Amino acid sequence: MTDQAPTDERGPVTTLATPIRLDFDFTPGIAQSKFLRGLEQGRFLGQRCPVCTKVYVPSRGSCPTDGVATTDPVELSHSGTVTTYCVVNVPFQGQSIEIPYICAQVLLDGANVSFMGLLQEIPTDQIRMGMRVEAVWVEPDELTPSLASVKYFRPKSEADADYETYKEYL
Ligand SMILES: [Zn+2]
Repeated sequence: MTDQAPTDERGPVTTLATPIRLDFDFTPGIAQSKFLRGLEQGRFLGQRCPVCTKVYVPSRGSCPTDGVATTDPVELSHSGTVTTYCVVNVPFQGQSIEIPYICAQVLLDGANVSFMGLLQEIPTDQIRMGMRVEAVWVEPDELTPSLASVKYFRPKSEADADYETYKEYL
């Protein structure tokens, strides 16, 4: 018997469930703190690069293209365009949303980066790229400095965005 051989007739152990936990403190920094404080007020706050004029939301405090600080504050629309999406059909441990549901990349109007949001109030087979959506916020007394302040996005009753308007954000 070699070291690689099974130790008995059951064969090698291939999976093992074991409790693992990581606790850590997240320090968002100045730029992301502004974004998070905005969420606490029911607002999307981003920053514009003074060189290329791209608007980042949330901003990391600098433009990755130009390497300069993004100091110009920009308040963004609560409406945006679905650039890409994923329909989640697979259950997993700790899941809090009933499947199937849609995760979408939403490009807020005026922003140059999209971010991921939950999409609701639409059958999953009707989602499409270019769909116009709007944020649905939690009640005012439930707002916190986190993305949990945005309950989800929902479709707007307007025509889809033209592909040319979002193709560079896919
Ligand atoms: Zn830039």
